Amino acid sequence: MSWVTLEVKTTRRAQLVDITERLAEAVTGSGVDDGVCHVYVPHTTAGVTINEGADPDVARDIEARLEHLVPKEADYEHAEGNSDSHIKTALVGPSCAAPVRGGKLALGTWQAIFLCEWDGPRTRRVEVGVSAL
Ligand code: ZN
Repeated sequence: MSWVTLEVKTTRRAQLVDITERLAEAVTGSGVDDGVCHVYVPHTTAGVTINEGADPDVARDIEARLEHLVPKEADYEHAEGNSDSHIKTALVGPSCAAPVRGGKLALGTWQAIFLCEWDGPRTRRVEVGVSAL
């Protein structure tokens, strides 16, 4: 297994970016038939999650509700001014894994994999590794 690094440009401060197609290309390029697609985001204010991709309103609702639950301005200690971004990243986590079957990413019907930007816009890195079982 070798790791592939994807670059993802975000355009808003809080933004879920559907990266499923790019991950599917990495899976196809790996030549692995049955295995696991590992996705890791090496940042402290961006993460990754698997959720509904069919209706883009779901991603917008996640962005909006997390903004509401973890406001930018609050009684935070962290002097950089982006504690809300760190907290949202802690909630979604830095990694996920999905099955690879028949050489393809085998997500559920409604699922997509999202880079979760919480302190954009920026260019983010996503590490992708596909291992055989
Ligand atoms: Zn910070």
